[in-house]
Amino acid sequence: MDAPHIVIVGGGMAGLGLAYALVQRQADVAQPWRITVVDAQPRWGGVVRTVMEDGFVVEGGPDSVLAFKPAAVRLWRALGLDEAIMGTDPRYKGAFVFARGRLHRLPEGLTLMVPSQLGPLFRTSLLSWKGKLRAALDLVPRRVAPPDGDISVADFIAGHLGHEVMAYIVEPLFAGIYAGDARRLSVAATYPQLLELERRYGSLLWGLFAARRARARRDGANPQRTRSAFVTLRRGLTQGVEALVAALKRANVRLVTSAPVTRVHPTAQGWRVETERGTMRANAVVLALPAWKAARLVEGFDPALADALYTIPYASTATVSLAYRATDIAHPMPGYGFVVPRVEGRPLVAGTWTTRKFPHRSPEGTVLIRLFLGRAGNDRIVHADEAEIAALARQELADIMGVRAEPLRTWVFRWPRVLPQYEVGHAERVRAIQQRARGHPGLYLLSNAWDGVGIPDRLAAAERLATELTRS
Ligand SMILES: Cc1cc2nc3c(=O)[nH]c(=O)nc-3n(C[C@H](O)[C@H](O)[C@H](O)COP(=O)(O)OP(=O)(O)OC[C@H]3O[C@@H](n4cnc5c(N)ncnc54)[C@H](O)[C@@H]3O)c2cc1C
Repeated sequence: MDAPHIVIVGGGMAGLGLAYALVQRQADVAQPWRITVVDAQPRWGGVVRTVMEDGFVVEGGPDSVLAFKPAAVRLWRALGLDEAIMGTDPRYKGAFVFARGRLHRLPEGLTLMVPSQLGPLFRTSLLSWKGKLRAALDLVPRRVAPPDGDISVADFIAGHLGHEVMAYIVEPLFAGIYAGDARRLSVAATYPQLLELERRYGSLLWGLFAARRARARRDGANPQRTRSAFVTLRRGLTQGVEALVAALKRANVRLVTSAPVTRVHPTAQGWRVETERGTMRANAVVLALPAWKAARLVEGFDPALADALYTIPYASTATVSLAYRATDIAHPMPGYGFVVPRVEGRPLVAGTWTTRKFPHRSPEGTVLIRLFLGRAGNDRIVHADEAEIAALARQELADIMGVRAEPLRTWVFRWPRVLPQYEVGHAERVRAIQQRARGHPGLYLLSNAWDGVGIPDRLAAAERLATELTRS
């Protein structure tokens, strides 16, 4: 009997990670899968996109992963990339916030993006005295989240720590991850740990003090723990994609590029997967895609499932990397970068001083800076042409860091509708999608529209699905 065939649509981190996790589990199952991964683009990795030019290592999409979520580092180690894994440069810790015309250092001791130490909170130049005293009022326990409903990040944080902490600390840090609008993002879907702190302590500050003490005890017991919050690969995250693809080829996984899937359809025997380069038959099909792209493929046989998938909004963003002669940058860049609060009304969301964060990414005597432009509700710029995006990036850099020199090189990457927005009521929307999808045996959805947007989240979700697929 032929081995059952599984087609994974989408060769981003989730789809490739799933193929790899299935290969790892093949030895333990009676009937191993025959695996095909198909992608619309001529290259693998989805939004992971490293460009290496003239000694610069430029990340168009993600540039690192959170070290405390182990799935990415675990995968890189399994792929033999130990030597390539690297942390951030410890000499330039910390980040800044651009507010009221200048950069302010973010107060130290943020946990879950929220201040967890009173000293740095009281010393910061970012908040007014009124704002600081309002934050301290959180020491008096209170309940802000409705007992059985959802609440926005903005309302929840402002209810506990006041509007200033919300607008100048928490909102810009959240925007740095989701390019989202904190007034719409759901606490339950983005940081359920904060709700748990409220439930247990009635106060985020008391809860975070306790969490800090517990962490200090853990770190004390394990001095080998890596200190770097973010890790990456020496030749950029594409190095991980290349190693993954090589391992899949060795395992005889069929890899098909430049073949956009136009629709999938259930048949009496399983599934038909139609691509612009031909049709495949499969026993199971996994859509490792953003929710709205998966929606397009299922519309033909289940319009209600497609409608449910379309309810998850996606934000757009653009990244611009600029290379300069070091002598052209007077600014000391004393950290990893900065964020720009929404209340500042600027198109810039965040900037990374790449040269400080990962020094090997720019040749001696040069500086590499990366800017994020466009956010939920204000993403017009992402659809402009590259020259306009680059010009706006340079204008922002002039205003914020006083950089007026001509860059040596400029790289622009546009990412329309890539970042899912976990808005208030997200859990309900996801439940509706999953309930509907369960009606189609052999169809699996593996999307960053739920269970996390970060690369480690995507890989962990892929591992869970591989376990499910090799159990049945
Ligand atoms: C600018 C940016 C910065 C980020 N920074 C970080 C970071 O620093 N750290 C971090 O952990 N995460 C970061 N993220 C988030 C993270 O990179 C993504 O959530 C994750 O990589 C998504 O992986 P995926 O496989 O789910 O989707 P994708 O990467 O979107 O992959 C989907 C794939 O499906 C293919 N596809 C689409 N339609 C079809 C079709 N019809 N037929 C066939 N193939 C199709 C696409 O070509 C693509 O290859 C960032 C994201 C962006 C956009």
